[in-house]
Amino acid sequence: MSFRVGSGHDTHRLAAGRPLVLGGVTVPHDKGLVGHSDADAVLHAVTDALLGAAGLGDIGDAYPDTDPRYAGADSRRFLTETLARLNQFGWRVVNLDVTVFAQEPRLGPVKAAMRESLAGLLGLPAGAVNVKAKTGERVGHIGRGEAIGAHAVVLIQKPATDGHG
Ligand code: MG
Repeated sequence: MSFRVGSGHDTHRLAAGRPLVLGGVTVPHDKGLVGHSDADAVLHAVTDALLGAAGLGDIGDAYPDTDPRYAGADSRRFLTETLARLNQFGWRVVNLDVTVFAQEPRLGPVKAAMRESLAGLLGLPAGAVNVKAKTGERVGHIGRGEAIGAHAVVLIQKPATDGHG
């Protein structure tokens, strides 16, 4: 087997009057993330981790935020299309570990739903996906409730082509 690891990070600003979507799950809150797409920072971080692991650049290369086709886009599309690209190269996802940074809302009650959502999108058992939630300790842009961030690490594998894997 060949293995590659990838990491992804994303942050979006919070503003009133937007739905809050994290990991493909709509989270009840009086603010949502601002962005060209639905601004799902979790899915953007996971997509970047997949692209990074496969050596395929970043989400800005694949889905430019200047492209009107992606205005208001459901970010689940970015993840599933990227996964299909990796599959075409023979890569399969082994596991995903995600950390979400949010002062508010408290994400403990939605971690399980995010895990199920991510596992479903990646075609993985829930045991291969982990979602952790951290506050911003009330400092910085996240701690002041101005933004939500996400960090993702993913491992991918494919059969070695040299016969020695
Ligand atoms: Mg983003």
